[in-house]
Amino acid sequence: MSDIIDEKPQNEKPMPAPPEDPIDPDRVAGAQERWTECPLKDCKRNPELLYADFYLRDIRTNRLMCSACAVKTEVGYIAREVVKASDDRFYTGNIGSDGILFGAMLVGSIVANALSLLIGFFYFAFLIGLAIGGGLAIQARRLSGKKVTRQTPYFGIGGIVIGALLTPTVWFFFRTGIFYISLSIAFNISTLACTIGMVMASWGVFMRRI
Ligand SMILES: [Zn+2]
Repeated sequence: MSDIIDEKPQNEKPMPAPPEDPIDPDRVAGAQERWTECPLKDCKRNPELLYADFYLRDIRTNRLMCSACAVKTEVGYIAREVVKASDDRFYTGNIGSDGILFGAMLVGSIVANALSLLIGFFYFAFLIGLAIGGGLAIQARRLSGKKVTRQTPYFGIGGIVIGALLTPTVWFFFRTGIFYISLSIAFNISTLACTIGMVMASWGVFMRRI
């Protein structure tokens, strides 16, 4: 997310000229303030934003925003970098915690999908997915220390989907002792129904921050 922060010193380049002439002096003052104070790039690149007739200030830091910096929240308009900083407190995980979550969901998904293949009726497979998905997601989160990153939900869903795609191969191996990978056996209506159930039941759990 560091892409939205301008890492170069901000006054390296000259400030762009106003988009209109003559121009309201308030807009020039606003543009100068944005040019020196705004930590984001949008208004630096776009004179329309820089000189915009927009005088909202962040309710916490009081900095002058442009319409691209301002985020509407329940408590008022807040600058984007302030929203991000307050979000960052929740994201204490790393690739290790996401990896553990992914692995737990992968193994659990193989078990749930194997059960679905065993029963073989897609409606029950969907119910199995719903029943196992939510509980498994809670356990996987415990295993990873309940530490999350912004990408945690994708690791969780990735574990479920990849587990589902591997299940027929694992199943075939246990029954025949032959390791045979084939896309034609990776897609199956029961594993598809189970996977949809698991994703539906677990997505909300993965979106939790604490
Ligand atoms: Zn801005």
